Amino acid sequence: MYTVDLHNHTIFSYDGSNTPDEIIENAINHGIDVIGITDHQFSIGLRLPDYFEYIQHCKVKYHDKIRVLCGLEIGTRPKPDDLLASDASCLDYVLFESLDHPRGMDFFEFLEWRRLFSCPVGLAHTDIFALSERYGLDILRILKEYDIFWELNVSGNYSYYYDFLTNAKKREAVRASGITVSVGSDTHWVEEYRYKRIREANELLRELGNPFP
Ligand SMILES: [Zn+2]
Repeated sequence: MYTVDLHNHTIFSYDGSNTPDEIIENAINHGIDVIGITDHQFSIGLRLPDYFEYIQHCKVKYHDKIRVLCGLEIGTRPKPDDLLASDASCLDYVLFESLDHPRGMDFFEFLEWRRLFSCPVGLAHTDIFALSERYGLDILRILKEYDIFWELNVSGNYSYYYDFLTNAKKREAVRASGITVSVGSDTHWVEEYRYKRIREANELLRELGNPFP
């Protein structure tokens, strides 16, 4: 089965333990088809060109074994820097995190940010159903309209994902909305790699009908 994992941290992140090569080689050993590296923008800071160059090098190095994507995880507590959007335009995608957090970025502000990025933009670590309730909005419709994908985070740290797995109504709402969905393991060291969960989430991704990438 075609399997993607688009959320992984390396030593470019303050909380990552492995080099990009170790993360990628571990993914190859598990039969992953597309691996995304998404280090924290606040950890990378001014090293963004080095990070980009490093991951480009990995794309070439491993091209016959796995597809490598260069992403970036953008923290919203505190807010990112304005310059980031133009710097990040060369990336394959970015993830905005934790919009459902009490101190997370305001949803309308996020939509303004989304317009600044020319690469694909996703929402990570975010319970979109909780957001719908908080704002009294059909968030699924807005994500579709703004071409924002939603990440299924299989790290085990987010109960909203397990609720989604067992809630047929929510799954049908996402499928019917036509929004794009991705899978992320949120790996910080290879020993914790949750391969079985990644497979299960990828199966669900096919069922929902609009996988990214
Ligand atoms: Zn992360």
